[in-house]
Amino acid sequence: MDYQDCFAFQQKFFKSNVTKGIPFRIQELKRLKQVLQQHEELLYEAIYKDFKKSRKETYLTEFSLLYKEIDLALKKVKKWSQKRKASVSLANLPAKSYIIPEPLGVSLIIGAWNYPYQLSLAPAIAAIAAGCTVILKPSELPSNTSAAMKKMINENFDPHFFKVIEGGVEETTALLKLNFDKIFFTGSVPVGKIVYQAAAKNLTPVTLELGGKSPAIITEDVDIDMTAKRLVWAKFLNAGQTCIAPDYVVVQESIKGNFLKAVVARIEEANYDVANENYTEIINRKNFDRLHSLIDADHIYYGGKSNEETKTIEPTILSEVSWEDTIMNDEIFGPILPVLTFTDINQAIEQIKSRPKPLSLYVYTKSSKIRNKIMAEISFGGGAVNDSLMHIIETSMPFGGVGNSGIGNYHGKYGFDAFTHYKSVLQKSFWIELNLKHSPYTDFKFKWLKRLIG
Ligand code: NAD
Repeated sequence: MDYQDCFAFQQKFFKSNVTKGIPFRIQELKRLKQVLQQHEELLYEAIYKDFKKSRKETYLTEFSLLYKEIDLALKKVKKWSQKRKASVSLANLPAKSYIIPEPLGVSLIIGAWNYPYQLSLAPAIAAIAAGCTVILKPSELPSNTSAAMKKMINENFDPHFFKVIEGGVEETTALLKLNFDKIFFTGSVPVGKIVYQAAAKNLTPVTLELGGKSPAIITEDVDIDMTAKRLVWAKFLNAGQTCIAPDYVVVQESIKGNFLKAVVARIEEANYDVANENYTEIINRKNFDRLHSLIDADHIYYGGKSNEETKTIEPTILSEVSWEDTIMNDEIFGPILPVLTFTDINQAIEQIKSRPKPLSLYVYTKSSKIRNKIMAEISFGGGAVNDSLMHIIETSMPFGGVGNSGIGNYHGKYGFDAFTHYKSVLQKSFWIELNLKHSPYTDFKFKWLKRLIG
């Protein structure tokens, strides 16, 4: 089946209205949960082959989030899909108004490689809950996980409803030419722009989950050890290949020395080592070389060594970094942490604001004044106070970027909304008609019309 055929079949299936039924959506969500559980072993093996990601980390950062999303959707899909009443203005009485959530239709989901299961399947869960059909194009970089997902989905789902199509740039470019009802993309900013342009040709609504440089701001009043512990975990999880990882730290000058010592102590305690299966490889040679070139020997405070053969780079801390240094230009997406300092919080805020809006921002402080100032003045996708990364597990909050870090959001009900159109309907009967709006107009009618309509 080629793309065109697959797309045409899905369009036909969607128009049959089968996916709109709540029992169907529940059945398919349950199927996905069961299929995932049955294939956990295959998926663990595939991701280990691709970038040595361990079972425990895979469960923690991929499966646990997916099961949580499925369970929530199963519990709430009926409520989310219900027609809901809206108020009616005087000018329309007697009448009723209501809003009908309807699935957008045939959706294309394009995944990124760094959390290959979660980033492909969480949007798919949202699409299924909303009643859409799904063509999923996982990232081609982790080839084993892409193949495992293809096997798992294509052997267990009707392709008219849910199909995985593997491929890279060529295949994605061909898919993007089709007139999808929704495109959900996770990946880099430059490719996000390509996807947005392709979608614009068909006026297809998009969700773009992109990246960027996410700062962590640390003031002098914090618990330094706990801050270091939380930051080190968030930065070196998946070897820094996390879209919401703290990209760089801006710490108050007065605690810089103690903070750096605490970070090093925590890195050593965590014992990041591929042999221990608790430290992930860099995905490919291209990224390894890119990261390697970002390590400026003059700035190494800790680490800096790498192994070409195992594609690993040890946790690396760069100090005495300035806002103008090369490492501050683009998202790092690896285990290198530049540490900058500030003496005046206003200057740090201005620097962050002069750059593209980050996907995440973390502030570690006991000062409510500083926290409130940062929340009020800096625009960012989402984040945390006195922690990093963990906001992602809260399905009660939307997850997504703003400006350069993305368009739209998902997780929980917000994911359902990303694949849903809210259709607004005003319903009247025939027993009365307000004459005021009808021609011929008179001053009397106009006076009352202004009062009723405003
Ligand atoms: P990427 O943009 O290179 O690739 C993403 C997807 O786009 C892949 O499926 C790939 O096949 C496809 N693609 C690549 N080039 C293309 C082209 N020219 N035309 C059409 N399709 C193309 O991103 P990546 O390397 O997989 O992921 C890393 C980036 O993704 C980082 O910037 C990271 O911050 C971001 N990211 C964001 C989130 C989020 O939730 N916001 C999550 C993970 C990663």
